[in-house]
Amino acid sequence: MNPEAPNPNRVLVVDDSEFIHELVRARLREEGLQVEHQLTGEAGLRHAIDVQPDMILLDIELPDLNGFEVCRQLKERAETRTIPVIFLTGQSDTAAKVRGLDLGAVDYVIKPFDDVELRARVRAALRTKRLQDLLQQQSFLDGLTGLWNRGYLDHRLEGELNIARRYERRLSLLLGDIDHFKRVNDSFGHLFGDYVIQRIAEALSTHARRSDIACRYGGEEFALLLPSAGIDEAALVAERLRIAVEASPFHLRGTQLQVTISFGVASTEGLDPVTNESLIARADRALYNAKEAGRNCVHICVPDQPGAICSFTDFQSQLSD
Ligand code: GH3
Ligand code: MG
Ligand code: MG
Ligand code: MG
Repeated sequence: MNPEAPNPNRVLVVDDSEFIHELVRARLREEGLQVEHQLTGEAGLRHAIDVQPDMILLDIELPDLNGFEVCRQLKERAETRTIPVIFLTGQSDTAAKVRGLDLGAVDYVIKPFDDVELRARVRAALRTKRLQDLLQQQSFLDGLTGLWNRGYLDHRLEGELNIARRYERRLSLLLGDIDHFKRVNDSFGHLFGDYVIQRIAEALSTHARRSDIACRYGGEEFALLLPSAGIDEAALVAERLRIAVEASPFHLRGTQLQVTISFGVASTEGLDPVTNESLIARADRALYNAKEAGRNCVHICVPDQPGAICSFTDFQSQLSD
């Protein structure tokens, strides 16, 4: 899911006839769609997993996997499950139509097709897909801060870990927790507490790069996922954020209130196994250490020393040694 995508919709045609590819491309061009094609079931499946098109036009008779099997596998995989599939096939018998629709296809069009009708059916499928994406996006947003929520972090982390594994890239995670936040609520009220959470969320967004993923992880807890960043860079980002929060006191009824935040930082370097849970557990352990060490500080899981956690200052001096 890419909520900001201004790109044209991408339609994948899986058909063993190049003539059909050309025909569909010509007919869908007027809709402003980007049409891509594959000649076999296996290639179609791989293409769908890699580029996640907005919809798929799928033939049934293919040289390797038949279209029913391709559809079954598309609906089985989390990455491709929500891509609408329209069967586009010469098989006109009711049993085939029922089978295709029961496998999860949204529509079934028989060749030779009427191009006006095909375009209308493609438009309808894309409309439904857009609404579905919008609903999913909303379910992943935190209402108070506008940041992503924990559900999105889990979903996105899985995808980013797959990318990191495939391209042998690093991935880092910051977990932040506002210090003594209960006191803020108790002294100034829950509404003011909400305002503090919003302001800290803004600081997080301001410091994040476009490619970083800023989330509200829980009540007064935040997560920042840094794709391609190693532990050194992540530690610096956390320290900068910590200082920014410390340096921006709140003013209420003539009093000044300084709010601070503690961070735990971890990366995939030396992590085994590399999973959502293991990376979060690492960052969480470092955060726990930061709290134990007195709060308003950044603690870091040292990648090449299993189990070792140190403060930002110690980490910096280790780097310069
Ligand atoms: P520590 O430094 O150990 O993190 O102490 P703390 O007081 O921040 O931690 P604790 O977990 O004891 O308390 C967190 C508080 O955050 C308790 C809860 O009422 C408050 N909280 C959680 N979600 C929200 C929210 O959405 N708005 C407000 N105002 N408070 C919240
Ligand atoms: Mg065919
Ligand atoms: Mg907490
Ligand atoms: Mg707290």
